[in-house]
Amino acid sequence: MTDYITLPERRVPVVAACDVLVVGGGAAGISAAVAAARQGADVVLAERSGYLGGLASGGLIVLLLTLDDGNGRQVVAGQCQELVERLDGRGACFYPPPQQWGVADDALVEQYRRWGLVWGSGPHRVRYSVAYDPEEFKFVANTWVAEAGVRLMLHRWASDVVFELERPHGRPAGRLSHVVFTSKAGPQAVRAAQVVDATGDGDVFALAGESFEKEQVHPWLWFRMSGVRDIDAAQTARGGYFFRTLRPGQVLMPWGAAERIARRIDATDPDDLTFAEVECRRMVMDEVARLRAQAPGFEDAYLTDIALTLGITESRRLRGAHVLARDEVNTVFDDTVASTGHWTKYGAVYHIPYRSLLPLRTSNLLAAGRCISVDHRVHHATKEIPPCFATGEAAGVAAVQALRAGGAVQDVDVPALQRALRAAGAWLPEGTADDRQQTTDDRRQTTES
Ligand SMILES: Cc1cc2nc3c(=O)[nH]c(=O)nc-3n(C[C@H](O)[C@H](O)[C@H](O)COP(=O)(O)OP(=O)(O)OC[C@H]3O[C@@H](n4cnc5c(N)ncnc54)[C@H](O)[C@@H]3O)c2cc1C
Repeated sequence: MTDYITLPERRVPVVAACDVLVVGGGAAGISAAVAAARQGADVVLAERSGYLGGLASGGLIVLLLTLDDGNGRQVVAGQCQELVERLDGRGACFYPPPQQWGVADDALVEQYRRWGLVWGSGPHRVRYSVAYDPEEFKFVANTWVAEAGVRLMLHRWASDVVFELERPHGRPAGRLSHVVFTSKAGPQAVRAAQVVDATGDGDVFALAGESFEKEQVHPWLWFRMSGVRDIDAAQTARGGYFFRTLRPGQVLMPWGAAERIARRIDATDPDDLTFAEVECRRMVMDEVARLRAQAPGFEDAYLTDIALTLGITESRRLRGAHVLARDEVNTVFDDTVASTGHWTKYGAVYHIPYRSLLPLRTSNLLAAGRCISVDHRVHHATKEIPPCFATGEAAGVAAVQALRAGGAVQDVDVPALQRALRAAGAWLPEGTADDRQQTTDDRRQTTES
C-alpha cells in the first residue's frame, strides 16, 4: 500500500506573466511560440531541459518525414518550411529538390533511402523529406525564437496548474490562471492568458483534468557512429541498419539497437523510464560492439553520441472535441488547420481539424504536437515532426485569436484562424470554411459586376 505525506502550504513566486505560455520546447512548442509571437503576443516558452527541439534534436530523430503527400505535392509548409530554409542556409540539411518529389525512379529512391528519407513498403517514389544536423537544429531554434521576441525559460518542468472554475455546470468548466514549474530555484509560477500544451506527453492537459488516452510503447534510443569506412559500401553490405548523415564517415542508427527492448513502457511512469534508460543504453553498447566486430566498414568506427532522451513514440493523447480517426484519411474538414502526409504511405493525407487541438474542459488551453486528439493509427502520421510544426503553428495563432476576442479557445472564429494561417504561409487544402467563404464572396462579386 502506498504511504502518503501532506506538504505544507507554500507561497510560490509568480516569476512571469504573459499572453501565451507555451509549455514544451520541442518541434510543436517552438512552432507555437514563434507563431504566437509573430501575431504580436507576449510569449513565454518554458522547457524542462537545457535545449530546444525535444525528440527532433535531443532524441536524434533528425529526419523530417514527410512534407509531401507522396504524389509530389507539398502539404506541410509554413514554419516547417521555414525551418528547412533556415537549416539549408547553414548547409545543415539534405533533401531532394522539388522536381524529384513524387518521381518513381529506383536509383533516386535508393539514394534517398540511404539517408532515411524513404520508408514503408513500395513501390516507392521520392518523398519531400529532410535529413538535418541536430546541433544546428538547436542553434537555429534558439536564434529563431529570439528573433521572434519569445521569452525563453529553460530548466522549468511544469508540475502543477492553478485551475479556476468558471462554469461549474457548463463546458468548458474553467481556465488555467497559472502553470507552476519545478526548478533548481524551487517552484515558480507563470501567469498566462492562454496556454499551449506542447509537452509531447500532454502533461498540462493531464494536470488540468482533461481526459486522454494513454499508450504503452517500446522505447528506443537512437545513436550515431563515426569513423565508418566507405559508407556506401557498408550500406550495400548490409551489416547493420543505418543512414548517412551530413558528416563524412558518420552514420545514424535509427531506432537504436537492432532488437527492441523486452517490454513496452508507460512513458509517464518514472520507474518504467528508469528501466528503459538503463536497458536501452546497454543495448546500444552491445550493438556498437557487434557492428565493430561484424559489420564491414565499422572496424575503426566509434560511438559519437547517444540520444539525450529516449525515443518515445506515444504516451498520452488528448481526448478532445474531435478524435481524428483512421477512416477520416483524405477528409477535409470545415475547421482543418493543418495537414500531413503519411511517412509510410503514398497519397494518404490527414487534414487535422482545429477540434483535435481543443480540450473539452479548459477554456484557455490548446494541445499541439504528438499529444493532439487523434486515434492510435492516425497518431502514426500526426506524431511526425512536420505535422508537429503545423499543429504548433495552428495552436500559436489560435491562442492569440482567442486572446484578442477575449473568449474561449472553443469560440475561436475558425475561418479567421485559417486565413491567418494561410497568410503566414501554412498550407491548407481547398474546401475549408475560409476557402468556401472566399469562393462565395468571389461568386457574389462576379454576379454584382
Ligand atoms: C523512435 C522514434 C522515431 C521517430 N521517427 C521520426 C522520423 O523519422 N521523422 C519524423 O518526422 N518524426 C519521427 N518521430 C516522431 C517525432 O520525432 C516526434 O513525435 C516529434 O518530434 C514530437 O514533437 P513534440 O514537439 O510534439 O514533442 P517532443 O519532441 O517530445 O517535445 C516535447 C518537449 O516538451 C518538454 N517537456 C515535456 N514535459 C515537460 C514539462 N512537464 N514541462 C516542461 N517541458 C516539458 C520536453 O523536454 C520536450 O522538449 C519519431 C519518434 C520516435 C520516438
